[in-house]
Amino acid sequence: MSSAQYAICVLPGDGIGPEVIGCAQEVLQALHSTIDGPRFTFDHRPAGCDAYNETGDSLPSETVEAAKAADSVMLGAMDVARLPPTAIQPLRAMRRHLDVGASVRPARSYPGVPIPAGEIDVVVVREVTEGIYSGIEYPVGKDGACSVRVITRDASTRTAKIAFEQASRRRKKVTAIHKLGALKLTDSLFLESVADVAASFPDIEYETKNVDACALELVRWPEEFDVILSTNAFGDILSDVAAGLAGGLGIAPSGCVGENWAYFEPVHGTAPDIAGKGIANPIASILSAALMLRHIGEPEAGEQIERAVSRALASEELRTGDLGGSATSTQITEGIIGFLGEASAVGD
Ligand code: ATP
Repeated sequence: MSSAQYAICVLPGDGIGPEVIGCAQEVLQALHSTIDGPRFTFDHRPAGCDAYNETGDSLPSETVEAAKAADSVMLGAMDVARLPPTAIQPLRAMRRHLDVGASVRPARSYPGVPIPAGEIDVVVVREVTEGIYSGIEYPVGKDGACSVRVITRDASTRTAKIAFEQASRRRKKVTAIHKLGALKLTDSLFLESVADVAASFPDIEYETKNVDACALELVRWPEEFDVILSTNAFGDILSDVAAGLAGGLGIAPSGCVGENWAYFEPVHGTAPDIAGKGIANPIASILSAALMLRHIGEPEAGEQIERAVSRALASEELRTGDLGGSATSTQITEGIIGFLGEASAVGD
């Protein structure tokens, strides 16, 4: 199927990060023997809070160089909350070094996984370097504080392009999110930039929606949405809503992409409450690996993993605690590897 070999830089990070990313590696490694898929080598590098405690550096420059030199990058999870304020925020720094400006977060429901509303199959594409998370904050007098919301045409345009490219491979609809009434200058610039990109994708249906209306409609009529395109904070929140509607954080993958580099990570964090117990759901990381495969030009292998995950989720024994089951991370991983290569998936 594919004779290619890829060098993957792995930043396992903190908490459940190393456990779930290890499971994703096992699935990638099994591709060659099960479906004659690509081969992989893995280069593990320190980053995050444990790395900071050991070396005094939350993102060593050697890690950044290894990430840049690799064919792609996989991240576990990083505990940024435990880092002292003086430490480098490793995720923000990674995004800057790798020049990745857009986060792509698919959320889809799977047969057998309980969902709180209707079936959902959306991708949230979100700008991740600016907006209200740009990190510019300052005190105002004794009892005030101010955060600056930065929006630029460049960042909005490159994120919009990724959203429209995603939509062109899906159901061909983009919904751009704003709060124009309250954020006149910044969201006008965002929407203006998106409209320019929309003009070069005439076969994609394009609409704009207030963020509050989108939140309500996403819960009530999820089937109306295909690709949701957003600035940083609104997209952060809406992608978690979408993940919740699709069955929870345990199965929510993501990728951060730019022109030259990209990295892939589960949406969830370090989950310290279950770290080290072997019970974390590895599916978000395994699906992130599938996203990575699509990105590096191995869509068939990515699809095989997604089908195997779908098969696993349809089976009640293959559920971790977050999905109401009692399977371990290892059992889920072995189950998914067992389903690799089987021709059709339940519900696909
Ligand atoms: P962080 O501060 O790193 O974001 P957190 O625990 O506050 O960590 P998450 O890791 O995103 O936030 O998860 C919230 C809760 O969801 C966890 O405490 C855990 O119980 C559950 N959870 C998250 N990811 C998983 C997973 N992969 N498998 C099972 N449960 C999970």
